[in-house]
Amino acid sequence: EYVNLNEFFNYILDRFDMMIKTENERGDGFHHLPQKTYSIKREFAPRDLWVELDTDKMMQVIDNIMNNAIKYSPDGGVITARLIENQQSVVVSISDQGLGIPRKDINKIFDRFYRVDKARSRKQGGTGLGLAISKEVVEAHHGHIWVDSAEGRGSTFYISLPYQSYENGDEWDAEN
Ligand code: ATP
Ligand code: MG
Repeated sequence: EYVNLNEFFNYILDRFDMMIKTENERGDGFHHLPQKTYSIKREFAPRDLWVELDTDKMMQVIDNIMNNAIKYSPDGGVITARLIENQQSVVVSISDQGLGIPRKDINKIFDRFYRVDKARSRKQGGTGLGLAISKEVVEAHHGHIWVDSAEGRGSTFYISLPYQSYENGDEWDAEN
């Protein structure tokens, strides 16, 4: 399915913006974890980027990376979501100001069940499958997923997907 990535990503991020609002309004004591506040900053390529996606699966991928960004950050962090257009690819990136990932673990976090610092991660909940599944899904789209991180300062996850840039004036839907 061909999807407008800008709209698709906005839709997912809007849900995360909404989630924090409903959490704050509810205050009904059903949440056992202290509620986290965060804000999302969007920096998107100026024009619409059309890519072929399995939307259900790619939504799971972005949800997991967003949930990680929140889960592994202290309260009040800023999450920056970017959409970048290149000649042959588009890049989706999600940056947080959280715990970061130690250098020795960075190649392992995409492995099944791998979690940095088991004791700390257990408290946070989860299985350690999120990024392994994300990698499978992204590679099934002929894309790549990787991370850039500094311990104590934060992490940026990148997803690149194949893309054919079109020239200005050569609109994808131009009447022929
Ligand atoms: P699940 O996603 O299955 O609920 P999980 O979040 O622990 O569990 P992954 O999403 O696969 O599993 O992440 C693997 C590990 O990588 C995490 O346990 C955490 O230690 C580390 N990690 C992932 N994202 C971040 C992040 N944004 N900042 C710091 N550490 C991270
Ligand atoms: Mg996860």
